[in-house]
Amino acid sequence: MAEALTARGLSVTQMEQLPEVLPTVDPELGALVKDELIRQGVDVLTGTAVKQIHRVGERLRVDATAGRGEPVTRTVDVVLVVVGVRPETQLAADAGITLGMKGAIAVDKRMRTNLPNLFAAGDCVVTHHRLLGESYLPLGTTAHKQGRIAGENALGGTREFAGSLGTQVVKVFDRVVTRTGLRDPEAAAVGFDPLTVQSQADDHKAYYPGSRPICMHVTGDRATGRLLGVQLFGHLRSEIAKRIDIAATAIFHGMSVDAISEVDLSYTPPLGSPWDAVQTAAQAWSSRLSSDSHR
Ligand SMILES: Cc1cc2nc3c(=O)[nH]c(=O)nc-3n(C[C@H](O)[C@H](O)[C@H](O)COP(=O)(O)OP(=O)(O)OC[C@H]3O[C@@H](n4cnc5c(N)ncnc54)[C@H](O)[C@@H]3O)c2cc1C
Repeated sequence: MAEALTARGLSVTQMEQLPEVLPTVDPELGALVKDELIRQGVDVLTGTAVKQIHRVGERLRVDATAGRGEPVTRTVDVVLVVVGVRPETQLAADAGITLGMKGAIAVDKRMRTNLPNLFAAGDCVVTHHRLLGESYLPLGTTAHKQGRIAGENALGGTREFAGSLGTQVVKVFDRVVTRTGLRDPEAAAVGFDPLTVQSQADDHKAYYPGSRPICMHVTGDRATGRLLGVQLFGHLRSEIAKRIDIAATAIFHGMSVDAISEVDLSYTPPLGSPWDAVQTAAQAWSSRLSSDSHR
């Protein structure tokens, strides 16, 4: 929305109570997103918690506190409140449907609720996650898969939802940020022994004009070497979304971080490198694991 409103010629201020914008990715990548917002003219105030919004004549005054409680005030024409997504499941609860995590509808892998012949899918349900077990992940990709399964099973089918990895991608002006799988703290919380390594690689061979860096975080399990999560930040033209899909496919099939380097990926200098950026990120992870173990 910061991008869309800026494109419409509005002067945009973005307030975020956490230390970085976009807390769905690691703070280092959030900082890169913030840099891009600032570069494009957005007034970004992190560590700033909105306390009150007052009407002042035709305008709105936003009162916030920053840092150690210093007051921050902006008087604006429009306020857009973007504080997350919650399932609206009262109708289901009133009908006797069992709810689960975050008040979402509990379903099995066949998208069945506890009531006979009643299926549910999409933003209103608890989503099976391949690494976490349960999650609440309201995404269009998940809704499409679950909806198809619910429909097929409502007609007598037996198909099961294979599970989400929370793969998501967002364009922020000229940059793209994306993630799949688990971040370090999420992996630790479900019993993995995670190691997260940051690295950088060019989107294609540097001698071919126009190459740009991709910033990458790879999270793997120290004990088994299994790939658990990847986060990427880079330019809009750097195939960031398709590169995260390599990682999503690898995690879906339980691959190790090491095995990423064995995959036969495409290469030509204007588009990539003999070792794709995702493969060099995997190699950086393996090198760190081995240097840590020799300490
Ligand atoms: C701004 C925005 C951007 C997004 N971008 C992405 C993205 O880039 N990638 C991605 O994967 N996901 C994205 N999403 C999420 C994605 O849109 C949702 O996860 C997806 O649409 C959920 O599908 P759904 O069928 O569960 O719900 P919905 O698409 O919300 O459909 C539910 C429908 O049910 C109707 N309805 C509600 N109550 C009743 C009732 N009582 N009776 C009859 N009808 C009712 C509603 O009117 C609505 O049409 C985005 C969401 C938003 C809001």
